[in-house]
Amino acid sequence: MSNVFYQEKFQDRHNGPRAEEAQEMLAFLGVQSVDELIEQTVPSQIRLKKALALPEALSEKAYLAKVKQLADKNKVFKSYIGQGYYDVTVPGVIQRNVLENPGWYTQYTPYQAEIAQGRLQALLNFQTAVSDLTGLEIVNASLLDEATAAAEAMFMLYSARKNKEANVFLVTPNVFPQTLDVLQTRATPFGVEIRVADIEEANLANDVFAVFIQYPAADGTLAEYASFTAAAHAQNITVCVAADLLSLALLTPPGEWGADVVVGNSQRFGVPMGFGGPHAAFFATKDAYKRNIPGRIIGVTSDANGNYALRMALQTREQHIRRDKASSNICTAQALLAIMASFYAVYHGAEGIKNIASRVNDLAKLLDKALQELGYEQTNSSYFDTLRVVVGDQVGALKGEALNNELNFFYHEGVVGISIDETTTFEDIQTIVKVFAKIKAKSVNDIDLAGMVEALSPSIPEELVRTSAYLTHPIFNSYRSESEMLRYIKTLESKDLSLCHSMIPLGSCTMKLNATTEMVPLTWAHFGGLHPFAPADQTSGYMQLINELNDWLSEITGFAKMSFQPNSGAQGEYAGLMVIRAYHESRGEGHRNICLIPASAHGTNPASASMAGLKVVVVKCDEFGNIDVADLRARAEEHAANLNSLMVTYPSTHGVFEESIIEICAIIHEHGGQVYMDGANMNAQVGLTSPGFIGADVCHLNLHKTFCIPHGGGGPGMGPIGVVEHLVPFLPNHEVVAVSGEEGISAVSAAPFGSASILTISYAYIAMMGSDGLTAATKTAILNANYIKARLEGHYSVLYAGANGRCAHEMILDCRGFKHVGVEVADIAKRLMDYGFHAPTVSFPVAGTLMVEPTESESKAELDRFCDALIAIRAEIAAVEAGDVDQKENVLKHAPHTAEVVTGDEWNRPYSRQTAAYPLPYLKVNKFWPSVGRVNDSQGDRTLICSCPSIEEYAEA
Ligand SMILES: *Cc1c(COP(=O)(O)O)cnc(C)c1O
Repeated sequence: MSNVFYQEKFQDRHNGPRAEEAQEMLAFLGVQSVDELIEQTVPSQIRLKKALALPEALSEKAYLAKVKQLADKNKVFKSYIGQGYYDVTVPGVIQRNVLENPGWYTQYTPYQAEIAQGRLQALLNFQTAVSDLTGLEIVNASLLDEATAAAEAMFMLYSARKNKEANVFLVTPNVFPQTLDVLQTRATPFGVEIRVADIEEANLANDVFAVFIQYPAADGTLAEYASFTAAAHAQNITVCVAADLLSLALLTPPGEWGADVVVGNSQRFGVPMGFGGPHAAFFATKDAYKRNIPGRIIGVTSDANGNYALRMALQTREQHIRRDKASSNICTAQALLAIMASFYAVYHGAEGIKNIASRVNDLAKLLDKALQELGYEQTNSSYFDTLRVVVGDQVGALKGEALNNELNFFYHEGVVGISIDETTTFEDIQTIVKVFAKIKAKSVNDIDLAGMVEALSPSIPEELVRTSAYLTHPIFNSYRSESEMLRYIKTLESKDLSLCHSMIPLGSCTMKLNATTEMVPLTWAHFGGLHPFAPADQTSGYMQLINELNDWLSEITGFAKMSFQPNSGAQGEYAGLMVIRAYHESRGEGHRNICLIPASAHGTNPASASMAGLKVVVVKCDEFGNIDVADLRARAEEHAANLNSLMVTYPSTHGVFEESIIEICAIIHEHGGQVYMDGANMNAQVGLTSPGFIGADVCHLNLHKTFCIPHGGGGPGMGPIGVVEHLVPFLPNHEVVAVSGEEGISAVSAAPFGSASILTISYAYIAMMGSDGLTAATKTAILNANYIKARLEGHYSVLYAGANGRCAHEMILDCRGFKHVGVEVADIAKRLMDYGFHAPTVSFPVAGTLMVEPTESESKAELDRFCDALIAIRAEIAAVEAGDVDQKENVLKHAPHTAEVVTGDEWNRPYSRQTAAYPLPYLKVNKFWPSVGRVNDSQGDRTLICSCPSIEEYAEA
């Protein structure tokens, strides 16, 4: 046969096992073919009868050529639109070594602190930088975007309000429209009233619990709020401020004038606009709210050897423990982007940040002066970076001239908004002046721009000029040369285990391959450099990509249409439930408020339901982990009049394809409810079945699980939702860019298409896999899981299985039986680190268990190494059970072992150093050393330290 038409297939790179390996694994399972295994695993009544209708798979090279064409359809104009999104210069050393580096982007959320000290430190640096700049003590390590951070603040201040009668959130009209939009959405289910009114003492009525201010205001103006804030506090009204992080280098921080919460976007710290995201929002507050703050806080503690160590503090498992009482549903956040922003602060330091902010301010002042000289009226008397220029009925002409020069401004009723950013230069100001001059039939040469530079008058009122220091910690002052910076980034990276080292078998999280080719276009300017509110004719490449991805994901889920607004799975849940709510309301059934949720559900489900104003009723699971259908029927009947919905994960969180799923959906529909399917487990469905086919009405996809967006150490993610035809009209709209119809719910996130730039990753995955490759991936994921199950059975008991003894794409290992000899599931998780592995999901959905999900991307060799490690650990447990080793002094209890401990001069353990560090031969060639010993959780929670402690402080503690 000729090889003329030989074509490599991407699916052969994405899927781990070679054909021969797959055959060996099937033989081990006692089946002839993968189809026979699928026959035994996926109930026949829910199996799709035909292949997915998707375009032919592209090779990696062909894909890059195609996506280049799409990129070229996007026009990258200079953006002066502002409104919360600004062009930036990403330092090359950060772009290549963080954003484009799988050592940073493939990590999991840092639940296993001992092998995550690098990103924990970077996130602590983020918190420290935000704390310094905002002037507040307690900071979390990122929220999804500025608008949702504002909504979280509203909810926190509402819950903690002193006057329990008050239900009004007073919002100044001078805020970003997308923020107001999201505030409206989130306030509705709670009965909180958003009152848009000026920030005047006269408006501080009795029914107001908090006030929301944008600083600088949305139109760019600056005002002083210290006395207003004091007046508000005097009436038990709190103050939340959305601030521009870069401006705080020059402005008095809100924390210093009394603000209770400061939120905002850290995008200006070296993260591209990306047509809306991803970026990390921040949330800073007073010490008094440290137990109420949403999201994750990184805190300082110590390890088993008494050394400095970091961990996620307090709310780590908030949703899983508090469920519908949780203070927020945030799970995946924006870790990678927070890390980028923190490195930007480390790279520039206080001096660099101040210089950048001052240049922005000076260029704005220069432009102001030049435009006034041309005879324009500029209405902002004080400002940081944004001007408002009155052009009246010449706005059309001006816009035309601006577009001729590839400039985007913000246009609003005859007034032109111009926001200067980090990338703006003197020459750019000349170009803008040229455009404005032309409208007045003048020439840029009529004014002496260069001559004006030295005589600029201040634009920041004296009382708002920042006097306090920031970024004073040595971390922000030690890595100025690129060599130093590179080594700092690498030092942190080397402390963290990522997919670069070994498989990360996290149940429910689908840590599959994030292929390089999928990532490449992400950092092209034609995707990164677009403002989310750029004119439509500049974004047609993006729109084509989003439309095609909509078609493909609709086909894959069996739904009519997708919304790409939600920035995470949990936000998708919320969006989906709000869509269902709008649907019921449209039929005059707005009273339906009962949401049935199985006991086994992920904690974000009840948290999202409660945020959507629903009352959660728990449905029992039977001894096999399946939904108790009799109980479900009883609850549905009992609440028939008010049944809103069921939230169900499929295959179940126990890793089983429940046979009764079709009946379950029917019961809910019979009683007037809608079925929300949690799509976190889509990796077991793609190409074999689909939520739409099964009978669900809405489903979110975690694109950062099933569709290859990397986890980034805890975000970014994307949680688009798909819906059936009758729900399409209610999909989220957006105040600035229409993305849905009149009946659409208001926005759930700041940008019309969420974190649009990372959609390129999922788009690439589907384009290169095609129907065939995607279906093969699902089958391989099921094969890999069942292979692990078969290898580990006899060593561990596997909790649940389907009718034929098969699991879906994941399984639960029961570790509760070791408790009586003092071995906890955490000991196994920590000991796995010594074997070079990240632990599976610990204690979800069942306490005391491990949930393992290998994904299709792992080869047999890697699966075998992982199984060997778990089997070796089982032998170590057996030695404790047999009484051969002490229940406290053993290799499990002391795990993980650092290089420092193992090579120490003293060794008084009842096991050898070799046993500690090299328990299996493969470790001799590939050893990953945990950088700290077991971290002390309770110490970290007792005394919360969430910014970098000084070296002296730490030595004293
Ligand atoms: C991951 C997950 C979620 C939450 O998704 P995020 O993107 O982290 O918000 C919800 N449900 C299940 C079952 C999950 O595994």
